[in-house]
Amino acid sequence: MNASSACNTSIATNHADTDNKAALHFPIYLDYSATTPVDPSVAAKMCAYLTEKFGNPASSSHSFGWEARAAVEKARKQVAGLVGAQTAEIVWTSGATESNNLALKGAAHVLRERGRGKHLVTVSTEHKAVLDTMHTLERDGFEVTYLQPGSDGLITTAQFTAALRPDTLLASVMMVNNEIGVIQPIAELGEICAGRGIVFHVDAVQAAGKIPIDLRRLKVDLMSFSAHKVYGPKGIGALFVRHNPDLTLEAQIDGGGHENGMRSGTLATHQIVGMGEAFALAALLQEEESARIRLLHERLWEGLRVLPGVLLNGSAEQRIPNNLNLSFDLVGEVSVAGQLLDIAVSAGSACNSANAAPSYVLSALGRSDALARNAIRISLGRYTTMEEIDYTVATLRQLLQSQPIAA
Ligand SMILES: *Cc1c(COP(=O)(O)O)cnc(C)c1O
Repeated sequence: MNASSACNTSIATNHADTDNKAALHFPIYLDYSATTPVDPSVAAKMCAYLTEKFGNPASSSHSFGWEARAAVEKARKQVAGLVGAQTAEIVWTSGATESNNLALKGAAHVLRERGRGKHLVTVSTEHKAVLDTMHTLERDGFEVTYLQPGSDGLITTAQFTAALRPDTLLASVMMVNNEIGVIQPIAELGEICAGRGIVFHVDAVQAAGKIPIDLRRLKVDLMSFSAHKVYGPKGIGALFVRHNPDLTLEAQIDGGGHENGMRSGTLATHQIVGMGEAFALAALLQEEESARIRLLHERLWEGLRVLPGVLLNGSAEQRIPNNLNLSFDLVGEVSVAGQLLDIAVSAGSACNSANAAPSYVLSALGRSDALARNAIRISLGRYTTMEEIDYTVATLRQLLQSQPIAA
Protein backbone atom coordinates (compact mmCIF):
# COMPACT_ATOMS: atom_id res chain seq x y z
CA MET A 1 0.00 0.00 0.00
CA ASN A 2 1.19 3.55 -0.64
CA ALA A 3 -0.19 5.39 2.36
CA SER A 4 1.09 8.92 2.71
CA SER A 5 3.14 9.56 5.81
CA ALA A 6 0.28 11.66 7.19
CA CYS A 7 -1.75 8.52 7.77
CA ASN A 8 -0.70 5.29 9.37
CA THR A 9 -2.90 2.74 7.67
CA SER A 10 -1.60 -0.40 9.30
CA ILE A 11 -4.36 -2.32 11.05
CA ALA A 12 -4.29 -4.93 13.75
CA THR A 13 -6.65 -7.38 12.10
CA ASN A 14 -5.39 -10.65 10.63
CA HIS A 15 -5.03 -10.35 6.89
CA ALA A 16 -6.81 -13.07 4.98
CA ASP A 17 -4.21 -13.05 2.26
CA THR A 18 -1.26 -13.79 4.53
CA ASP A 19 -0.15 -17.41 4.60
CA ASN A 20 -1.93 -20.00 6.71
CA LYS A 21 0.78 -20.13 9.32
CA ALA A 22 -0.08 -16.56 10.31
CA ALA A 23 -0.28 -16.33 14.07
CA LEU A 24 -3.55 -15.28 15.62
CA HIS A 25 -3.69 -11.70 16.88
CA PHE A 26 -5.78 -11.07 19.95
CA PRO A 27 -8.43 -9.97 20.53
CA ILE A 28 -10.00 -11.52 17.44
CA TYR A 29 -12.48 -9.18 15.76
CA LEU A 30 -15.76 -10.88 14.85
CA ASP A 31 -18.05 -7.86 15.05
CA TYR A 32 -18.02 -6.63 11.44
CA SER A 33 -21.76 -5.86 11.59
CA ALA A 34 -21.03 -3.22 14.24
CA THR A 35 -18.33 -1.57 12.18
CA THR A 36 -15.44 -2.47 9.89
CA PRO A 37 -11.88 -1.20 9.72
CA VAL A 38 -11.23 1.22 6.87
CA ASP A 39 -9.58 -0.78 4.10
CA PRO A 40 -5.94 0.39 3.94
CA SER A 41 -6.24 1.22 0.23
CA VAL A 42 -9.28 3.38 1.04
CA ALA A 43 -7.52 5.17 3.90
CA ALA A 44 -4.56 5.89 1.63
CA LYS A 45 -6.82 7.62 -0.92
CA MET A 46 -8.56 9.70 1.75
CA CYS A 47 -5.39 11.24 3.14
CA ALA A 48 -4.59 13.65 0.31
CA TYR A 49 -8.01 15.24 0.76
CA LEU A 50 -7.15 16.20 4.32
CA THR A 51 -3.83 17.87 3.64
CA GLU A 52 -3.28 18.90 0.02
CA LYS A 53 -6.61 18.71 -1.80
CA PHE A 54 -8.47 20.43 1.01
CA GLY A 55 -10.66 22.75 -1.07
CA ASN A 56 -14.36 23.31 -0.39
CA PRO A 57 -16.38 21.47 -3.06
CA ALA A 58 -18.76 24.46 -3.08
CA SER A 59 -15.99 26.91 -4.04
CA SER A 60 -16.70 27.41 -7.72
CA SER A 61 -14.22 30.20 -8.47
CA HIS A 62 -10.86 28.39 -8.20
CA SER A 63 -9.12 25.09 -8.79
CA PHE A 64 -9.05 24.04 -5.10
CA GLY A 65 -12.84 23.92 -5.18
CA TRP A 66 -13.00 22.29 -8.62
CA GLU A 67 -10.64 19.54 -7.53
CA ALA A 68 -12.73 18.78 -4.42
CA ARG A 69 -15.96 18.91 -6.41
CA ALA A 70 -14.56 16.45 -8.95
CA ALA A 71 -13.61 14.05 -6.13
CA VAL A 72 -17.08 14.30 -4.61
CA GLU A 73 -18.75 13.60 -7.96
CA LYS A 74 -16.44 10.67 -8.67
CA ALA A 75 -17.39 9.19 -5.30
CA ARG A 76 -21.07 9.75 -6.01
CA LYS A 77 -20.65 7.71 -9.18
CA GLN A 78 -18.81 4.96 -7.27
CA VAL A 79 -21.56 4.65 -4.66
CA ALA A 80 -24.26 4.71 -7.35
CA GLY A 81 -22.32 2.06 -9.26
CA LEU A 82 -22.47 -0.54 -6.51
CA VAL A 83 -26.28 -0.38 -6.32
CA GLY A 84 -27.41 0.39 -9.87
CA ALA A 85 -28.46 3.99 -9.14
CA GLN A 86 -27.95 7.10 -11.26
CA THR A 87 -25.19 9.36 -9.98
CA ALA A 88 -27.57 12.27 -9.34
CA GLU A 89 -29.76 10.05 -7.14
CA ILE A 90 -27.14 9.86 -4.36
CA VAL A 91 -27.37 12.43 -1.52
CA TRP A 92 -24.53 12.65 1.03
CA THR A 93 -25.36 12.49 4.74
CA SER A 94 -23.42 12.04 7.97
CA GLY A 95 -24.32 8.34 8.12
CA ALA A 96 -27.26 6.00 7.81
CA THR A 97 -28.90 7.30 10.97
CA GLU A 98 -29.24 10.65 9.23
CA SER A 99 -30.22 8.98 5.94
CA ASN A 100 -33.09 7.20 7.69
CA ASN A 101 -34.21 10.40 9.42
CA LEU A 102 -34.11 12.37 6.16
CA ALA A 103 -35.94 9.66 4.22
CA LEU A 104 -38.75 9.10 6.69
CA LYS A 105 -39.34 12.57 8.13
CA GLY A 106 -38.53 14.28 4.84
CA ALA A 107 -40.99 12.20 2.81
CA ALA A 108 -43.73 11.83 5.43
CA HIS A 109 -44.16 15.57 5.94
CA VAL A 110 -44.26 16.39 2.23
CA LEU A 111 -46.75 13.59 1.53
CA ARG A 112 -49.05 14.58 4.38
CA GLU A 113 -49.10 18.18 3.20
CA ARG A 114 -50.21 16.89 -0.19
CA GLY A 115 -53.15 15.14 1.47
CA ARG A 116 -51.76 11.67 0.86
CA GLY A 117 -52.65 10.42 4.33
CA LYS A 118 -50.91 9.92 7.65
CA HIS A 119 -50.22 6.18 7.95
CA LEU A 120 -46.83 4.46 7.80
CA VAL A 121 -45.81 0.80 7.92
CA THR A 122 -42.57 -0.65 9.25
CA VAL A 123 -41.29 -3.73 11.12
CA SER A 124 -40.66 -4.09 14.85
CA THR A 125 -37.13 -5.44 14.23
CA GLU A 126 -35.86 -2.42 12.27
CA HIS A 127 -32.75 -0.55 13.41
CA LYS A 128 -33.34 2.10 16.10
CA ALA A 129 -32.57 4.79 13.54
CA VAL A 130 -35.86 3.82 11.85
CA LEU A 131 -37.88 2.93 14.96
CA ASP A 132 -37.03 6.07 16.92
CA THR A 133 -37.73 8.21 13.84
CA MET A 134 -41.12 6.51 13.58
CA HIS A 135 -41.78 7.32 17.25
CA THR A 136 -41.06 10.99 16.54
CA LEU A 137 -43.45 10.90 13.58
CA GLU A 138 -46.13 9.41 15.85
CA ARG A 139 -45.71 12.38 18.20
CA ASP A 140 -46.17 14.59 15.10
CA GLY A 141 -49.57 13.01 14.46
CA PHE A 142 -48.71 10.18 12.08
CA GLU A 143 -49.98 6.64 12.68
CA VAL A 144 -47.48 3.78 12.41
CA THR A 145 -48.08 0.03 12.09
CA TYR A 146 -45.18 -2.09 13.39
CA LEU A 147 -45.33 -5.51 11.72
CA GLN A 148 -44.24 -8.47 13.87
CA PRO A 149 -41.93 -10.89 12.04
CA GLY A 150 -42.30 -14.66 12.32
CA SER A 151 -39.91 -16.74 14.44
CA ASP A 152 -37.55 -16.71 11.42
CA GLY A 153 -37.31 -12.90 11.58
CA LEU A 154 -39.07 -12.43 8.24
CA ILE A 155 -42.29 -10.71 7.30
CA THR A 156 -44.54 -12.07 4.55
CA THR A 157 -45.99 -10.19 1.59
CA ALA A 158 -49.51 -11.20 2.72
CA GLN A 159 -48.91 -9.73 6.15
CA PHE A 160 -47.50 -6.56 4.62
CA THR A 161 -50.41 -6.15 2.21
CA ALA A 162 -52.92 -6.67 5.01
CA ALA A 163 -51.39 -3.78 6.96
CA LEU A 164 -51.78 -1.26 4.12
CA ARG A 165 -54.60 1.29 4.28
CA PRO A 166 -55.99 3.80 1.79
CA ASP A 167 -54.13 6.53 3.73
CA THR A 168 -50.77 4.67 3.86
CA LEU A 169 -48.19 7.05 2.43
CA LEU A 170 -44.89 5.37 3.23
CA ALA A 171 -43.42 1.99 4.18
CA SER A 172 -39.94 1.25 5.51
CA VAL A 173 -38.43 -2.25 5.60
CA MET A 174 -34.73 -3.03 5.97
CA MET A 175 -33.04 -5.30 3.45
CA VAL A 176 -30.77 -7.18 5.89
CA ASN A 177 -31.26 -7.16 9.65
CA ASN A 178 -28.22 -5.94 11.56
CA GLU A 179 -28.65 -8.33 14.50
CA ILE A 180 -29.72 -11.58 12.86
CA GLY A 181 -28.70 -11.14 9.21
CA VAL A 182 -32.00 -12.22 7.64
CA ILE A 183 -32.96 -10.87 4.20
CA GLN A 184 -36.47 -9.42 3.84
CA PRO A 185 -38.38 -9.87 0.53
CA ILE A 186 -37.65 -6.33 -0.69
CA ALA A 187 -38.35 -6.94 -4.41
CA GLU A 188 -41.86 -8.25 -3.69
CA LEU A 189 -42.65 -5.53 -1.13
CA GLY A 190 -41.50 -2.89 -3.64
CA GLU A 191 -43.93 -4.20 -6.25
CA ILE A 192 -46.78 -4.00 -3.75
CA CYS A 193 -45.90 -0.40 -2.82
CA ALA A 194 -45.47 0.69 -6.43
CA GLY A 195 -48.90 -0.71 -7.30
CA ARG A 196 -50.50 1.50 -4.66
CA GLY A 197 -48.44 4.66 -4.96
CA ILE A 198 -46.82 4.14 -1.55
CA VAL A 199 -43.30 5.54 -1.12
CA PHE A 200 -40.95 2.68 -0.18
CA HIS A 201 -37.82 3.23 1.93
CA VAL A 202 -35.22 0.51 2.54
CA ASP A 203 -32.37 0.60 5.07
CA ALA A 204 -29.73 -1.32 3.11
CA VAL A 205 -26.78 -0.63 5.41
CA GLN A 206 -26.12 -4.32 6.14
CA ALA A 207 -26.78 -5.44 2.58
CA ALA A 208 -24.47 -3.14 0.62
CA GLY A 209 -21.30 -4.92 -0.44
CA LYS A 210 -22.61 -8.27 0.84
CA ILE A 211 -25.46 -9.13 -1.54
CA PRO A 212 -26.23 -7.68 -4.98
CA ILE A 213 -28.49 -4.60 -5.01
CA ASP A 214 -29.89 -3.40 -8.34
CA LEU A 215 -31.98 -0.26 -8.06
CA ARG A 216 -32.77 -0.41 -11.77
CA ARG A 217 -34.94 -3.42 -10.98
CA LEU A 218 -36.03 -2.87 -7.38
CA LYS A 219 -39.12 -0.71 -6.93
CA VAL A 220 -37.54 1.21 -4.10
CA ASP A 221 -37.81 5.01 -3.82
CA LEU A 222 -35.40 5.72 -0.96
CA MET A 223 -32.44 3.63 0.24
CA SER A 224 -30.00 4.29 3.11
CA PHE A 225 -26.28 3.44 3.12
CA SER A 226 -23.37 3.85 5.54
CA ALA A 227 -19.66 3.77 4.73
CA HIS A 228 -18.32 2.28 7.96
CA LYS A 229 -20.11 -1.07 7.52
CA VAL A 230 -18.40 -1.47 4.11
CA TYR A 231 -14.72 -0.81 5.00
CA GLY A 232 -15.11 2.97 4.70
CA PRO A 233 -14.87 5.69 7.35
CA LYS A 234 -17.39 6.48 10.08
CA GLY A 235 -19.43 9.66 9.88
CA ILE A 236 -20.42 9.46 6.22
CA GLY A 237 -23.46 7.93 4.57
CA ALA A 238 -25.77 8.37 1.65
CA LEU A 239 -29.43 8.36 0.79
CA PHE A 240 -30.60 7.16 -2.61
CA VAL A 241 -33.51 9.35 -3.73
CA ARG A 242 -35.06 8.03 -6.90
CA HIS A 243 -35.32 10.59 -9.69
CA ASN A 244 -39.03 11.35 -9.74
CA PRO A 245 -40.64 14.82 -9.75
CA ASP A 246 -43.32 13.51 -7.37
CA LEU A 247 -40.74 12.48 -4.79
CA THR A 248 -39.43 15.47 -2.87
CA LEU A 249 -37.97 15.49 0.62
CA GLU A 250 -38.17 18.20 3.22
CA ALA A 251 -34.63 19.05 4.37
CA GLN A 252 -33.92 18.19 8.00
CA ILE A 253 -30.88 20.48 8.19
CA ASP A 254 -31.21 24.06 6.92
CA GLY A 255 -28.36 26.06 5.50
CA GLY A 256 -26.65 26.74 2.22
CA GLY A 257 -28.89 24.48 0.16
CA HIS A 258 -26.27 21.86 -0.69
CA GLU A 259 -27.26 18.52 -2.19
CA ASN A 260 -30.18 20.00 -4.19
CA GLY A 261 -31.59 21.59 -1.07
CA MET A 262 -32.01 18.24 0.66
CA ARG A 263 -29.01 18.40 2.99
CA SER A 264 -27.07 21.55 3.78
CA GLY A 265 -23.56 21.64 5.14
CA THR A 266 -20.05 21.73 3.66
CA LEU A 267 -19.37 18.33 2.14
CA ALA A 268 -16.77 16.24 4.00
CA THR A 269 -14.59 15.59 0.97
CA HIS A 270 -12.16 13.12 2.57
CA GLN A 271 -15.02 11.09 4.06
CA ILE A 272 -16.90 11.11 0.77
CA VAL A 273 -13.79 9.99 -1.11
CA GLY A 274 -13.47 7.18 1.44
CA MET A 275 -17.06 6.06 0.97
CA GLY A 276 -16.70 6.14 -2.81
CA GLU A 277 -13.50 4.10 -2.80
CA ALA A 278 -14.95 1.64 -0.27
CA PHE A 279 -18.06 1.07 -2.39
CA ALA A 280 -16.00 0.73 -5.58
CA LEU A 281 -13.83 -1.84 -3.84
CA ALA A 282 -16.92 -3.69 -2.61
CA ALA A 283 -18.24 -3.86 -6.17
CA LEU A 284 -14.94 -5.39 -7.23
CA LEU A 285 -14.61 -7.88 -4.37
CA GLN A 286 -18.23 -8.72 -3.51
CA GLU A 287 -18.61 -12.00 -5.33
CA GLU A 288 -15.29 -13.50 -4.29
CA GLU A 289 -15.49 -12.16 -0.76
CA SER A 290 -19.02 -13.50 -0.23
CA ALA A 291 -17.98 -16.94 -1.44
CA ARG A 292 -14.99 -16.99 0.91
CA ILE A 293 -17.04 -15.80 3.88
CA ARG A 294 -19.75 -18.35 3.08
CA LEU A 295 -17.18 -21.13 3.52
CA LEU A 296 -15.98 -19.69 6.82
CA HIS A 297 -19.60 -19.34 7.96
CA GLU A 298 -20.33 -22.98 7.11
CA ARG A 299 -17.25 -24.11 9.02
CA LEU A 300 -18.27 -22.00 12.02
CA TRP A 301 -21.88 -23.18 12.04
CA GLU A 302 -20.98 -26.84 11.45
CA GLY A 303 -18.58 -26.61 14.39
CA LEU A 304 -21.11 -25.01 16.72
CA ARG A 305 -24.47 -26.53 15.78
CA VAL A 306 -23.49 -29.90 17.28
CA LEU A 307 -22.84 -28.37 20.70
CA PRO A 308 -25.53 -28.81 23.34
CA GLY A 309 -27.82 -25.81 23.97
CA VAL A 310 -26.91 -23.87 20.81
CA LEU A 311 -29.83 -22.30 18.92
CA LEU A 312 -29.67 -20.32 15.67
CA ASN A 313 -31.59 -17.02 15.66
CA GLY A 314 -33.31 -16.08 12.40
CA SER A 315 -33.94 -17.96 9.19
CA ALA A 316 -31.26 -20.49 8.25
CA GLU A 317 -31.88 -19.93 4.52
CA GLN A 318 -32.83 -16.28 3.95
CA ARG A 319 -29.66 -14.80 5.37
CA ILE A 320 -26.33 -13.24 4.54
CA PRO A 321 -23.33 -15.47 5.25
CA ASN A 322 -21.54 -12.84 7.34
CA ASN A 323 -23.81 -13.20 10.36
CA LEU A 324 -24.35 -15.96 12.89
CA ASN A 325 -26.60 -15.05 15.83
CA LEU A 326 -26.84 -17.73 18.49
CA SER A 327 -28.77 -18.18 21.73
CA PHE A 328 -27.51 -20.51 24.46
CA ASP A 329 -29.96 -22.61 26.42
CA LEU A 330 -28.03 -22.98 29.66
CA VAL A 331 -28.89 -23.34 33.31
CA GLY A 332 -28.32 -20.34 35.55
CA GLU A 333 -26.94 -16.91 34.83
CA VAL A 334 -23.98 -17.91 32.67
CA SER A 335 -23.37 -15.26 30.02
CA VAL A 336 -21.48 -16.72 27.08
CA ALA A 337 -20.62 -13.26 25.69
CA GLY A 338 -19.20 -12.30 29.07
CA GLN A 339 -16.77 -15.21 28.92
CA LEU A 340 -15.45 -14.68 25.41
CA LEU A 341 -12.59 -12.55 26.63
CA ASP A 342 -10.32 -12.63 23.58
CA ILE A 343 -12.99 -12.72 20.86
CA ALA A 344 -14.89 -9.51 20.08
CA VAL A 345 -18.53 -10.31 19.32
CA SER A 346 -21.82 -8.52 20.04
CA ALA A 347 -23.87 -9.55 23.06
CA GLY A 348 -27.61 -10.13 22.85
CA SER A 349 -28.24 -7.41 25.36
CA ALA A 350 -26.90 -3.90 25.74
CA CYS A 351 -24.49 -5.07 28.42
CA ASN A 352 -23.60 -8.39 29.95
CA SER A 353 -25.20 -7.99 33.35
CA ALA A 354 -28.00 -10.42 34.03
CA ASN A 355 -30.63 -7.70 34.41
CA ALA A 356 -29.84 -5.86 31.16
CA ALA A 357 -32.77 -5.54 28.77
CA PRO A 358 -32.82 -8.44 26.31
CA SER A 359 -32.42 -7.70 22.60
CA TYR A 360 -35.75 -6.39 21.21
CA VAL A 361 -35.00 -8.16 17.94
CA LEU A 362 -34.59 -11.58 19.56
CA SER A 363 -37.65 -10.95 21.75
CA ALA A 364 -39.64 -10.18 18.59
CA LEU A 365 -38.71 -13.65 17.24
CA GLY A 366 -40.37 -15.13 20.31
CA ARG A 367 -37.20 -15.94 22.25
CA SER A 368 -37.66 -16.01 26.03
CA ASP A 369 -35.95 -13.27 28.03
CA ALA A 370 -33.26 -15.74 29.10
CA LEU A 371 -32.54 -16.85 25.53
CA ALA A 372 -32.68 -13.29 24.18
CA ARG A 373 -30.19 -12.23 26.85
CA ASN A 374 -27.82 -15.14 26.48
CA ALA A 375 -27.05 -14.57 22.83
CA ILE A 376 -24.10 -13.54 20.72
CA ARG A 377 -23.84 -12.12 17.23
CA ILE A 378 -20.72 -13.36 15.45
CA SER A 379 -20.13 -11.34 12.28
CA LEU A 380 -17.40 -12.16 9.80
CA GLY A 381 -15.66 -9.91 7.33
CA ARG A 382 -12.87 -9.17 4.90
CA TYR A 383 -10.03 -9.98 7.30
CA THR A 384 -11.52 -13.01 9.02
CA THR A 385 -9.30 -16.07 8.69
CA MET A 386 -9.91 -19.80 8.93
CA GLU A 387 -7.64 -19.87 12.00
CA GLU A 388 -9.86 -17.33 13.74
CA ILE A 389 -12.93 -19.41 12.98
CA ASP A 390 -11.28 -22.58 14.29
CA TYR A 391 -10.16 -20.79 17.44
CA THR A 392 -13.69 -19.47 17.98
CA VAL A 393 -15.21 -22.94 17.57
CA ALA A 394 -12.66 -24.46 19.96
CA THR A 395 -13.23 -21.73 22.55
CA LEU A 396 -17.02 -22.03 22.47
CA ARG A 397 -16.81 -25.80 22.50
CA GLN A 398 -14.71 -25.75 25.65
CA LEU A 399 -16.94 -23.17 27.29
CA LEU A 400 -20.23 -24.90 26.50
CA GLN A 401 -19.12 -28.41 27.31
CA SER A 402 -18.40 -27.29 30.87
CA GLN A 403 -21.95 -25.86 31.26
CA PRO A 404 -25.10 -27.66 32.37
CA ILE A 405 -27.79 -27.50 29.67
CA ALA A 406 -31.36 -26.46 30.41
CA ALA A 407 -33.68 -29.48 30.59
C1 LIG B 1 -25.18 0.73 11.54
C2 LIG B 1 -26.59 0.81 11.04
C3 LIG B 1 -27.28 2.02 10.92
C4 LIG B 1 -26.67 3.33 11.39
O1 LIG B 1 -25.66 3.75 10.53
P1 LIG B 1 -24.66 4.92 10.98
O2 LIG B 1 -23.95 5.27 9.72
O3 LIG B 1 -23.78 4.32 12.02
O4 LIG B 1 -25.49 6.05 11.50
C5 LIG B 1 -28.55 2.01 10.41
N1 LIG B 1 -29.14 0.87 10.03
C6 LIG B 1 -28.53 -0.32 10.12
C7 LIG B 1 -29.22 -1.54 9.66
C8 LIG B 1 -27.23 -0.39 10.63
O5 LIG B 1 -26.64 -1.58 10.75
